Amino acid sequence: MCPVCGTDFETVSVHDEGLMVNMRDNDRYQRVCLEPVSDDGTALIRFFHHTHEQTGTDQPGTAGGRIP
Ligand SMILES: [Zn+2]
Repeated sequence: MCPVCGTDFETVSVHDEGLMVNMRDNDRYQRVCLEPVSDDGTALIRFFHHTHEQTGTDQPGTAGGRIP
């Protein structure tokens, strides 16, 4: 369960540096939620990947209300 939007996700990845995300016209994933975490003082970002099936018809920003 994604901690950001409360929806099931397919995969989660962890990053410790900047990266570019472009989900436009992505065949597999419709949405990625980002959660900042700290691992022993190291700042990390976790990416929760949602497929089109998992997000259904929800518009970004509706689920959980935490996405501006
Ligand atoms: Zn999410």
